[in-house]
Amino acid sequence: MSSARETLRRDFGGTIIEPGGAEYDSASRTALTSGSPACVLRPETTGDVQAAVRFAAGAKPPLSVRGGGHGFAGFGTNDGGVVIDLSKLADVEIINKERHLVRIGGGATWGRVAETLAPHGLAISSGDTKSVGVGGLTLSGGIGWKVRKHGLALDNVAAAEVVTASGQVVHASSRNHPELFWAIRGGGGNFGIVTAFEFLAHPTTDIFFGKIAFPAAHAATVLQGWADYMRTAPEELTSTVVAANPLAGGPDAPVEICVAFDGDKAPLADQAIDPIRRLGPLIDDEIALKPYADTLEDGGAPPPGIQFVARSAFAEKQSVPDVVDILAQARASERSPVITVRSIGGAVSRIPDGATAYAHRQAELMLLTITVGPKPAVEAALPALETIWETLAPYVDGAYANFLTSATDEDVAAVYPAQTYKRLAAAKRRYDPGNLFARNHNVRPQ
Ligand SMILES: Cc1cc2nc3c(=O)[nH]c(=O)nc-3n(C[C@H](O)[C@H](O)[C@H](O)COP(=O)(O)OP(=O)(O)OC[C@H]3O[C@@H](n4cnc5c(N)ncnc54)[C@H](O)[C@@H]3O)c2cc1C
Repeated sequence: MSSARETLRRDFGGTIIEPGGAEYDSASRTALTSGSPACVLRPETTGDVQAAVRFAAGAKPPLSVRGGGHGFAGFGTNDGGVVIDLSKLADVEIINKERHLVRIGGGATWGRVAETLAPHGLAISSGDTKSVGVGGLTLSGGIGWKVRKHGLALDNVAAAEVVTASGQVVHASSRNHPELFWAIRGGGGNFGIVTAFEFLAHPTTDIFFGKIAFPAAHAATVLQGWADYMRTAPEELTSTVVAANPLAGGPDAPVEICVAFDGDKAPLADQAIDPIRRLGPLIDDEIALKPYADTLEDGGAPPPGIQFVARSAFAEKQSVPDVVDILAQARASERSPVITVRSIGGAVSRIPDGATAYAHRQAELMLLTITVGPKPAVEAALPALETIWETLAPYVDGAYANFLTSATDEDVAAVYPAQTYKRLAAAKRRYDPGNLFARNHNVRPQ
């Protein structure tokens, strides 16, 4: 056995999974991607993560860090390298009841967080799916059902425990290692492994939540009216439109608007939601009061062989009418991808631009297209996808790292505008000068 392996076996108290082992098949893949790593290390303590990082630094690259394993780009696994799978670091604990401060393991999922906090009347601004990881979602943003009232998931992080590339444990906050604290709020997994986050939660019990649907024929006016209304809607209201859905009838599929009103007072909820109900002839209205934790969906892993192409961008106020027009036209095509549009603004835009490494605070909308299916179907759909994005190009900006399957230089430049990238690269030089954490939308040390 090599001395690196001996050291790992001595210092690492978690599980080491290697090809041929009983758990290897499931451990080698993520929810969306398969892989064939040389080993998967499942740490159980921060000390185990330190040992795993030191081992990975001397092992054959690439190194993958896996939180909830739901990344679209497949960074959570690889071929021939090391995977550090944080799924055992999943504790959720309220550490300060008065401040609603919650410590969450770097491998926890949002379902577990919501379920643990619900009996205490608390919740955290996160995403819409239970099985998605706190790690990946938070480090690059976190756009969920409380985003307009409480900001991105990363805006609610008060501190983090990080194991850096040298294997050291660093406590990052606005006081300690402030530049690292800035960088991990938007800079993804570039700077180390977050073994625990401290989040500020919000008092939450039940919220008004559900879908409203309109006939396809009214798509253009509904979409335009929705985007106009969300600009000035109360911040308690967050909303997503499924603008096109080939999996539910293509051009004939109804336009579905999902709304979350962060409060349990019916008159206030109606006041906020009624302008959306009046956008066209309603064919469905499922909005009901429900526990926040029940609004999150189960993720579910797709069957092997199903591929995804996820692309995203942001639209600021002046471009919204053109963007919405283009999407309304795109939905009329049989070859349209799934198109969803999320309202942002609100609390996200009130936080100063440079306060965190998330660089898209002035956007009103985040658009996402997902092309999904077996490989030949996805390949056949790519030209139509390209046309949609070429048409959108003059009107949209940037990209949301959490909704990208690719990680080209162009993608990295879209996620991190030049000024953000420069500052991130300086932090990278300090905390990961050898670019150990490279399997991400990578920032190179400068
Ligand atoms: C079904 C589904 C629903 C989604 N819904 C939403 C949504 O509502 N809102 C939203 O904003 N996004 C959403 N996303 C996107 C999601 O935020 C990203 O896919 C995110 O990367 C998933 O994080 P993960 O930890 O599960 O993934 P992983 O694949 O485990 O992680 C992705 C990368 O993040 C880094 N990383 C993860 N954890 C850590 C850690 N603890 N320390 C250091 N680096 C880490 C690593 O680089 C890792 O490779 C959704 C995705 C899916 C598949």
